[in-house]
Amino acid sequence: EKELRAQQEKARKEEEDRIKREKELVAQQEKARKKEEARIRKEKEALARKEKARKEKMERIKREKRELEKQENARRREEECVKRENLSLAQKEKAREEQGRIRKEIELLALQDKAKEEEIAAIELEGINRERRLLLEEEKANKEEEEQERIEREKEEERARKKDEYIRRMDEYNKLHINSPKQRELVGQQDKSLQNLRSTLSTTKTDVRSMQNICQDEADNLGKHVDTICQAAAGYKKVLEENRKLYNQVQDLKGSIRVYCRVRPSLPGQENQATCVDYIDDETVTIIVPSKSGKEGRKASMFNKVFGPSATQEEVFSDTQPLIRSVLDGFNVCIFACGQTGAGKTYTLTGPGEITPETMGVSYRALNDLFLISEERKNLMNYEISINMLEIYNDEIKDLLICQPAKKGINVPDANLVPISSTDDVMNLMNLCKKNREVNDHGSRSHSFLTAHVFGRDLTSGTTTRGCMHLVDLAGNEKLNNSDDEATHINKSLSALGDVLVALANKSSRVNYKACKLTQLLQDSLGAQAKILMFVHVHPNMDEALETLSTFKFAERFSTLEKSSDVRDIKEQICLLKSALAKKEAGDTGWQDMISSPRSGEQNGAFEDDDDSAKAKNSSSKQPTKSAHVKRAAALAAVAAKLGKQAAFSDPKKKKGKELQVKEGEMNTK
Ligand code: ADP
Ligand code: MG
Repeated sequence: EKELRAQQEKARKEEEDRIKREKELVAQQEKARKKEEARIRKEKEALARKEKARKEKMERIKREKRELEKQENARRREEECVKRENLSLAQKEKAREEQGRIRKEIELLALQDKAKEEEIAAIELEGINRERRLLLEEEKANKEEEEQERIEREKEEERARKKDEYIRRMDEYNKLHINSPKQRELVGQQDKSLQNLRSTLSTTKTDVRSMQNICQDEADNLGKHVDTICQAAAGYKKVLEENRKLYNQVQDLKGSIRVYCRVRPSLPGQENQATCVDYIDDETVTIIVPSKSGKEGRKASMFNKVFGPSATQEEVFSDTQPLIRSVLDGFNVCIFACGQTGAGKTYTLTGPGEITPETMGVSYRALNDLFLISEERKNLMNYEISINMLEIYNDEIKDLLICQPAKKGINVPDANLVPISSTDDVMNLMNLCKKNREVNDHGSRSHSFLTAHVFGRDLTSGTTTRGCMHLVDLAGNEKLNNSDDEATHINKSLSALGDVLVALANKSSRVNYKACKLTQLLQDSLGAQAKILMFVHVHPNMDEALETLSTFKFAERFSTLEKSSDVRDIKEQICLLKSALAKKEAGDTGWQDMISSPRSGEQNGAFEDDDDSAKAKNSSSKQPTKSAHVKRAAALAAVAAKLGKQAAFSDPKKKKGKELQVKEGEMNTK
């Protein structure tokens, strides 16, 4: 029990301790609570303060708002006031405008009224006038009618009177003569013929009527025909255009660059001088090469056409003539004359000093033709032709129509372009030009240009064409010993022209026209469609042979004839053989010398080569050339055979003749 009591006492003490601790804890808690309460109170106070401040602020804001509202109201009121005022102003303005408009309308109406009144008055007046006119006309017509009636009546009366008279007379007559049966018969006859006349009159009348009908029908038919003719004319236009193109194609097929050669005759007094021209035919010229003998003593060149010493100016022009039509069709044509001084360039283009209709040169004839053809076409086309004439000396352009140095601008925009309308104009201008050229005194050392510009307009369709023709008398191309400015300029310009022509002949896309003034001037008119004609002139004197050969070399560059050197070789040989044959037939012994060839082996080689190349190109488009080869080779063989039969060929030559025949056979089978 004691223990129990001690335990209980212990438990009680522990209990007391615990209670004490708890009480302490409670006291602590109470303290903390009080602290917390104080904090809360403080916070509440702060909140209350804040709330108060907020409220105050709100109050203030509200006050301000109210103030602003008041101001806004006042502003609105003011605005309204202004608006009202504005409105009243606008209204007033509008009203004023309206008033103006109304006033104007009233005025307009008044004017319209007035105009209408006037119109009505005019119409009325016109009506009145018309009526008056009608009345007058009617009156006049009436009067005329009356007059007519009166005349008719008078006629009637006259007729009646005449009839009465006639009857009376007849009665009298009958009384007096009726007894005679012969007279009665006569009267009967006259009656009959009168009736006949009446019937013919009526048939004639019907005839005339039917004739009128026929005429009407024919007029209708004519109208229809005119329609068809109009259609045909339209078709004709088309055909003409096609014709123009075809014609151009034909000219192109002849070669857009043609090279003609002209050998001038020996001048009076020099007929006995030795000549360097050995042989001439339609397409070849053989020149004697001085100080060479045998085969090398001759050089044959080919041209599209060759004019011998006896060719007249007219003959020379005849091959140029077709190109003139091309100029009027709107294509460009360039005609050049080249050769050494004294070879006849000026003679070909212009003529001799004294120009007669027979000796007129290509330029006159070409311009004349321009006029003639434009005259022929005057119902279809209207052409304006103008020319300028220039000279290029030391790469400087001079206008020959004013004789002052032309401006440096290219294509010479300032050059005198003179409209011409007749051959007389041409004559006068050419004379002026000739004089100016003499004054400039550059003679053969300058290039002279005559350019005709042709502007055509189709009268019906209004389409236009523009063609241009240059006639260029080139400077003499002889070699000069002194290498002065003149010579360098001439050489440079001629070789530049050669380059341009070569590029054109090869249809190259890049042509350099810039090199000198001569080519620059031609730039506009040389080109794909241009037709170019070069007259190569030959001085016949033996002393000038080397110059002639160099001229030929110049022309050979751009000649569109055969390019292959092998073929050219053969052709040359043919020429030589032909000329030997000609000599032989003329009884000249020099022919043997011509065919004794130091190069005969080479020739055979040439044949081999040609044959090979023919094989190589067998299926190519060169067919026509090849057949030309065959022909040429055949001709060569024939000539060689002819010569061989009659003369003693030395062995190698005989072999050559045989071989030629063999080749010919081979080619033919091919
Ligand atoms: P280029 O202009 O080439 O210097 P020219 O035309 O002045 O040569 O000719 C030199 C001379 O030869 C002139 O007297 C000219 O009349 C004459 N002549 C040139 N060609 C012929 C010809 N085909 N027929 C007759 N005389 C000619
Ligand atoms: Mg001349």
